[in-house]
This record gives sequence, structure tokens and C-alpha cells, in this order.
Amino acid sequence: MPLRGLAKAKNFTLGPTAPMKTFTENIHIQTKESNNFRNSGKSHKLTNNIQNENLFRYESKIKSDFDEIVPTLKEIAQIQHQEDFINKAQKISRKNLGIDLPLHVLDKSWVKPLDMRALYAWCAFKQHEKLSDNFFNNDPLEGAAGSRDAEDFEKFLLDCGIHLLDITPCSDGRLAHSVAYVMRIPFSTVRRRSHAGALFDIENTVNRWVKTEHKRYRENVPNEAHKDTRYLKVVTYHFSSVDPLHQGCAAHGSNDELAAAEGRNKLYAFKEAVENSFCCGASVDLMLIGLDTDTDSLKIHLSTSDGGIDLDKTISTLEIYNSTINFSKEDAEREICQTISKQSSKDKLSGLEKFTYKLIINNISQIDYVKSFHNGSYEDIGHAERFIGVGIGFKEVHLRNLTYFAHLDTVEEGAPDLDVGVKIFSGLNVSQDLPIPVVIRFDYSGKVPGAKERAINDCERVNNAISIRYKNLVDQGLLHTCSTIRDRDNIHSAQIIGMSLDKKTEEAH
Ligand SMILES: [Zn+2]
Ligand SMILES: [Zn+2]
Repeated sequence: MPLRGLAKAKNFTLGPTAPMKTFTENIHIQTKESNNFRNSGKSHKLTNNIQNENLFRYESKIKSDFDEIVPTLKEIAQIQHQEDFINKAQKISRKNLGIDLPLHVLDKSWVKPLDMRALYAWCAFKQHEKLSDNFFNNDPLEGAAGSRDAEDFEKFLLDCGIHLLDITPCSDGRLAHSVAYVMRIPFSTVRRRSHAGALFDIENTVNRWVKTEHKRYRENVPNEAHKDTRYLKVVTYHFSSVDPLHQGCAAHGSNDELAAAEGRNKLYAFKEAVENSFCCGASVDLMLIGLDTDTDSLKIHLSTSDGGIDLDKTISTLEIYNSTINFSKEDAEREICQTISKQSSKDKLSGLEKFTYKLIINNISQIDYVKSFHNGSYEDIGHAERFIGVGIGFKEVHLRNLTYFAHLDTVEEGAPDLDVGVKIFSGLNVSQDLPIPVVIRFDYSGKVPGAKERAINDCERVNNAISIRYKNLVDQGLLHTCSTIRDRDNIHSAQIIGMSLDKKTEEAH
């Protein structure tokens, strides 16, 4: 069902051609009469404050694990010529970072200056390992398959007529939290494929579509093939309301209009591919969403009268937030329903309207999250990722500005994505003489004979390609890699199979 949202024209905003002003300005404009609620700590009646607290605790813990690396290494650098250095260094590292440092690097401190670059990369890799272990063992975001939230959401999707939700955000680290935080969707219920500029791979997505339909025919999973439900493909491009000309999408030269238009082109191409390749009215549903990386609010693009995606007409969750901030819960719900549909009760919504309603409600919590924990607009409006993730997998990464993704099978295929990442990290790390930590990951299916060996080979292949493509950086110790694999059919976390800073004679273990 097309998303028209024609009921209330007042909530229409121009598309990304007219980026919103800063969050703070917006709020001040809207609330002159209501006594500057920013300082009153008031949140929206539809906000889930308990969930916000939990998500913030998780974000703070993980980020501080990475951000403690530099101060800790500085502390260690100062004592490298002291008696009993290795023990003292390990003690500091365990206390501050909760990890041990590699002996073969510390060992050499008597004969040459400590290799701080190697230590930095090691720490980043071990913190990633810790994050991964915690994620798969403890489900800190409560979104794992089989969790209550995930099961509820799967049911909800089917109610909306969606049998698979497939989202491609830009691989920019400022969108890495878009599923678990911005949209508040249990991570296991969505297929996430990040790509630079949100420009997903058509063939790959058609393959997934085929697989999904096949599973419905063969196994009735998630529902029977004759049920009238669709595959929903979502593209999330991004823009910056605070600094639109510089902090937009690097892959589109911070041109928001272009980011939206090219996202739509991909969506149309995917739909056409499915419709042309398969009979019996096979088709898919499409959705285009813009994410403001400063406030985490969304611009959801509306449908045109002929069922296409309107590049100019959008629903802004920030405007909805601001216009309903003084409403009771019931009034706010009614207002949102009327904004997106002809209905005035959420119970009467169906299809994509029902899905959109949920997205808006969920995003209102995130707007309050940014408001209360990040002063309404993130301090790191630009890039501040901690490592690059290359390959296939990384289900465990759901935090803003933690990881730059380069989703790829081969370095040749993913070279443009990876080059953008290396460029970003040249500014972030190399300019400060710190190395670029690259985690390589290949997930495999433990049920398939030989898959694990192939995943290990894939890691080695990509690792070699990286050391050739970025030889200059690698030779100077300014780019380190850590190869990891994970059995996706299992609950276990990722396993490190080797690092570029391993002792040369040592076998990878
Ligand atoms: Zn791909
Ligand atoms: Zn981007």
C-alpha cells in the first residue's frame, strides 16, 4: 500500500533540498511559549525512557572501552624504561582496558622504542573482541533471535504485510546504530547491508529475494507463499542539519538531493529486476528514508500518486516531535495517525502506514535520546569511527561512529567502499600517527561442509589484497588487520584467526 500521508499537509516538509536548521534552533522556535523545555529535561510522552537509559549505558561502556586506549598507552609509554616494565604495563592495561597486551611487542622495549602503533591496533582489536563476545553471549540490546522483542516484531512485520525487512544504510559509521537505536528495531529481525552512499548491490539483493521466496514455498517461513505479503527494501541515506555542506554523505559529496535521488534509483532498479525476472506479479515494496546524523531524526519519503517515491515530500519525525511535545500520549498518537493516513486510530492502520507509524513512534524515543544524552545534537557531527569493518557479517556492531563498514566479498568489488573508509581514517588516525585498525570478518554457515575453511581463505585473500592496495600504510605500521570468522548458524561470537601484528613465526591460532 502506498504511503500517501495526504491527510495533513502541514506536516509536509521539503525534501533534503532544504535541510532543517539545527535541532536546538528548531526547538527554540517551536517552544518559545512553552518555556524552553530543553533545560527542563521534559521528554515526549511517547518516549521509552527506560529503554533510553539502557541504550545509553551500553553506548557509554563500549565507547569508553575504545576511548581509554590512547590515555592508557600514554601512561604505559612513560614507564617503558622502568624496572619490571612488562608487569607494570599489563597491570595498567588490565585495570583501564580489561585486556592483556601482547608480550612479543612489550618484550622488545629494552632494545627499541615500544611499537605504540602495534599496541594501539592490538587494543582496538581486543576491545572489538570483547564487544563481540558480550554481544553474542549476553544480548545486551535484547534483539537476538528468539528474544521476546524480536518475536513480537516479527509478528508485527507480518501484520504490516512484510515478510522480510531489508535495510541498506550508508556504511558511514554515523548510521551504524540506525537499526537498534534510530529505528529501535530488534537487530535479528532485519537484514542489514551497509554500502557507501547506501548504494546496495542489485544482483545480491535479488538473490536474497529469491532465497526468501523459496523459503516461503518450501518451509512456510516466515509465512506461506500464497499469503499476500511483500519483501520491503529500505534505503537510508543521510544528511547533516548542522553542517549540510560538509558533513553529509561523503559518497555523494555532501549533496543530499543526489543521495536521495541515487538511493531511489537503486530501489527502482531492484523492483524492476524482480518484476522483469519473475512472473506471477512478483514485486517488492520500497521505502526511502533520510537520516539527519546530527539529531537522528528521520525524513520518510512519501509515495507519489503513481506509486513511486516522492523525492520532495517527506514526513519529518523532528517536526512531529516538536509539534506534539506538549500533547498527551493519546493526542500525540492520534496526531501521528492523521499525519500519515486518513485514520485517526493506530488500530485502524495497515500495511506500510502501520509500519511507518511504528517507525515514527520509535524514532521519537531516539530524538529524546540525543536530546537528553547528547544535548540535542551530537558533539561528533563528523566522523569519529574507531575501526573499519571489512567483509561479511558484523551483526554485533550497533553503535554510532564505532565502525566504518565496507561490505564486500572481494577487495576489487568493494574497493570504492574501502577507499572511502581508508580516506576517512587517514584523517582520523594516520594524521595523529595512529594506525588504521581493520577488522576483517567472514561469517559462514557451520551447516555447510567446508564453509569454515572457505571463510578462513576469504579472510586471507582480503588481508593480502589490503596489504597490496595500501602497501604504503601497511609498511609504516599505519594499517593493521585482524581476521575474524563467525558461524552464523550458531550463537557463538566471532573468533580471531590472526592479526597483522602476530609474531611472524607464530602460527595463527
Ligand atoms: Zn554487497
Ligand atoms: Zn554516506
